[in-house]
Amino acid sequence: MKIICIGRNYAKHIEELQNERPEHPVVFLKPDSAILPKKMPFFIPPFSTEIHYEVEVLVKINKVGKHIAKKFAHKYYDEIGLGIDFTARDVQQQCKQKGLPWEKAKAFDGSAVVGDFYPKGNFNLENLSFQLLKNDLIVQEGNTNAMLWKIDELISYVSQFFTLKKGDIIFTGTPAGVGRVEQNDVLTGKLEDEKPFEIKIK
Ligand code: MG
Repeated sequence: MKIICIGRNYAKHIEELQNERPEHPVVFLKPDSAILPKKMPFFIPPFSTEIHYEVEVLVKINKVGKHIAKKFAHKYYDEIGLGIDFTARDVQQQCKQKGLPWEKAKAFDGSAVVGDFYPKGNFNLENLSFQLLKNDLIVQEGNTNAMLWKIDELISYVSQFFTLKKGDIIFTGTPAGVGRVEQNDVLTGKLEDEKPFEIKIK
């Protein structure tokens, strides 16, 4: 399976990192080795002193598709979830400055927290609120109504480049409020009334 990530999908997050608003969705991949095993803590890797959390709504693809039209995109997923796109922000800054790829900053082991998934019918996907709590304090609050590109548009867009396969996961971008983690932090995800994950930082 593969993980397809979207960057810069919420205007306020683009502002906080002083990035340009993109003309098309920003897309990058994480390998399956990036997935943090369930119930495992996240270990801050030795190559970074600035690991940021980015809470994101996840979409799990349920069948093979290529060149999917937006109006049919809803047929390609039954479940949504919540996760974290851990980012070595210091490494990413270096990559950006040099115009280099982001994988070392975005695709390292443990960088993809994949929380529990739920039937999409349980939610209003157009108006889905989610939060990240750090040590019980809310640090990120988002709602899918603020996405620049909605879930179905993202599926249509990325399927122009990548054949989507059953089990692939799309990270749909983070809202504002990203920040650094420290050892002993606890990160808790909330998706409406659900709690898809809780992660300890080591
Ligand atoms: Mg992200």
